[in-house]
Amino acid sequence: MKIFVTGGAGYIGSHVAKTLGDLGHDVLVYDNLSTGNEWAVLHGRLVVAGLEDKLTLARVLKEYSPDAVMHFAASIVVHESVISPIKYYLNNTACTLNLIEAMLDAGVGRLIFSSTAAVYGIAQGVPVLESAPLNPINPYGSSKMMNELILRDASGAYGGSFRHVSLRYFNVAGADGEGRIGQVYKNATHLITRALKTAKGELDRLDIYGTDYPTPDGTCIRDYIHVEDLAHAHVLALDYLSGGGESVVLNCGYGHGFSVREVVAEAKRVTGADFNAVECGRREGDPPELVAGNGKIKSVLGWKPVHDDLEYIIRTAWNWEKKLA
Ligand code: UDP
Repeated sequence: MKIFVTGGAGYIGSHVAKTLGDLGHDVLVYDNLSTGNEWAVLHGRLVVAGLEDKLTLARVLKEYSPDAVMHFAASIVVHESVISPIKYYLNNTACTLNLIEAMLDAGVGRLIFSSTAAVYGIAQGVPVLESAPLNPINPYGSSKMMNELILRDASGAYGGSFRHVSLRYFNVAGADGEGRIGQVYKNATHLITRALKTAKGELDRLDIYGTDYPTPDGTCIRDYIHVEDLAHAHVLALDYLSGGGESVVLNCGYGHGFSVREVVAEAKRVTGADFNAVECGRREGDPPELVAGNGKIKSVLGWKPVHDDLEYIIRTAWNWEKKLA
């Protein structure tokens, strides 16, 4: 099949594009390289352009005429979204509208969308189910929730001719098992990346944000999922839509979590570095526990994770991080 991958030069998009290419699909990556990298595109063609450029988008999409679109291009830094909300509504919400409009014009009717557990905000249930109320607590989560609503309405209005799968990612981490691609952020905010940068000596300390949460060890619990398991979920979502599956929203996580302290201990063990981890106050807007209810993705897509292993997640990320040095 021919797959149009927005943001395919970024962290998650490049792993999915790699998986698609490995399976023999034809891939066109559409990426403005604002945070992505040309070297991360291991298969297929790269078109360097933005989704705000409606003329280019329409032309490339029509010329390529894909069987499906996978949409990863987005701004994803929560803290930045609070300071620059308009950037997030433009890059994430308005650009997704442009994409849907271009797809409808070009007669492309299958979309796999990168959503996020951030749409739940402070989740009420553990694990959280897809039916839980959406209460995002920052513009990043709101911008993604708006996309979900737009997709719901578009799928409702255009019936079988426009269908989508929204995957709500939990805490994506790890890197390509062969060490070819991984996460590259100038100012990484994520726990595992920051822990590894501290182990490497690039940061002088890792702050542990909050030790007084209502969890067994007082630190926040998250559902860390390896990027290759996530990539596989996209392939299954593609098969699902190609087989006539109806639009659906699915959580993507392992269904259990690790605390910040557990992640730090594992990062120290994997790296062999007893780095400086300092207990600090809470970071604003962190829910105590965010764990995916994953029964739906398992039953609808038949998804079976194979890297549900914190050691593997951290080891692949560490191998990549050392390479970056
Ligand atoms: N965290 C931390 N120190 C850091 C980065 C993150 O203690 O340097 C904590 C954060 O407060 C949260 C968890 O680690 O409880 C996961 O945060 P991350 O930013 O990786 O992902 P999020 O769940 O916010 O999407």
